[in-house]
Amino acid sequence: MNFLRTFSLRGILALLLLSGILSAKAQTSGVPVQPGYYNMQLGDFRIVALSDGALPLNMHTLLHEAKKGEVNTLLQQNYLDTIVETSITAYLILNGDQQILVDAGSGSFLGPTLGKLQSRLAAVGVRAEDIDAVLLTHLHVDHVGGLVNEGKVVFPNATLYISKPEADFWLTASNKATANKRAQPFFDLAQTTIQPYQQAGKVKTFAPGAQLLPGISAVPAVGHTPGHSFFVLESKGQKMVFWGDVIHAGAIQFADPAVTVDFDVDLAGAAAARKQTFEDAVKQGYWIAAPHLSFPGIGHLRHVGKEYQWIPANYAEIFAGK
Ligand SMILES: [Zn+2]
Repeated sequence: MNFLRTFSLRGILALLLLSGILSAKAQTSGVPVQPGYYNMQLGDFRIVALSDGALPLNMHTLLHEAKKGEVNTLLQQNYLDTIVETSITAYLILNGDQQILVDAGSGSFLGPTLGKLQSRLAAVGVRAEDIDAVLLTHLHVDHVGGLVNEGKVVFPNATLYISKPEADFWLTASNKATANKRAQPFFDLAQTTIQPYQQAGKVKTFAPGAQLLPGISAVPAVGHTPGHSFFVLESKGQKMVFWGDVIHAGAIQFADPAVTVDFDVDLAGAAAARKQTFEDAVKQGYWIAAPHLSFPGIGHLRHVGKEYQWIPANYAEIFAGK
């Protein structure tokens, strides 16, 4: 298993480096340590954003379908260079009885700038064995890698919730051969991380749109992956939608939602889902939690002309805790 883990880490890092998407900077160590967590209250629920770290990504090789010069112009307008440190965030939902994670970070699979979820959980006083459920937006390694360590389950008491089409796609080994080349690198790691939970009888698949837990339902948002799901949390008239990977490059894709990323299994489907998602978020005005926007990735969306503008949550030291 150790061999498998090492092989997979080397394999996926090599692939990302080879494709130029991941900057070699990702292999340096000694990055400054940030606190890495952020609390807010939503009705009866406490939401804690937990940073798994950040991955330096090359926006030129990551992005598809951009107009000529568009990426450089937007990066400049946002005071960013070509290599953008891209947050990877998991979210903890607490309601007094249950401790629920939305996604699980990268674990040991994507190098030393990531895999910080466990230390962030410890920093907020939550043990891995306290987690009752992990809701998985999809089965890419930056969302499932933290489920295992050395091939063993990290969250022994947690049930994993995965949409049925997502589980069927990634966990059927024979699909790898027929999948497109953007999807192929992710199959082995999806299986490596989910199988220990399957063997323990701890995986529940759900139909798209299902009610999962009190106050929490799933919404299909297919494109990035075949069973990609949002999770919707509602309490006391407040609503937060956990987006998963509908956006990776905030500086570019809020201005031009037609721009896609290399990790999208279905490029056109992902772009269509993004446009629809943005319109819905503006219209309804709910809270958004987005794992690849700058940490904590919590905020609202509005229209400015034809483009969208991200309004990050106001930083608050005091909130209506229970
Ligand atoms: Zn992701």
